[in-house]
Amino acid sequence: MDKIWIHLQNRISQTYINGLEKFLDFAYTNKPLNSMIDCPCKQCCNRYLVKRDVAREHIIIKGFFCQITRFGLVMGNVMCMFMEMKTLKLEQNQL
Ligand SMILES: [Zn+2]
Repeated sequence: MDKIWIHLQNRISQTYINGLEKFLDFAYTNKPLNSMIDCPCKQCCNRYLVKRDVAREHIIIKGFFCQITRFGLVMGNVMCMFMEMKTLKLEQNQL
């Protein structure tokens, strides 16, 4: 999965939107469409549960939570990070 889109300054570009949609598709794998996900935008920082439309709006308006980018370099895959976020939160709390 290409994660370059996360770094794009232009968050209304087609590349950004496409990357975002792929991320949301992944986040909703095996989930009902009306269920909630941890919002990975810069404001929510995975702390709040939101519906897909809200997450999409937040990520476009606020941008992607910056620590995801940092951990992404470590884990090498945006998609992994989303699943591992709870573990990462625990690790951060121990620092
Ligand atoms: Zn949000």
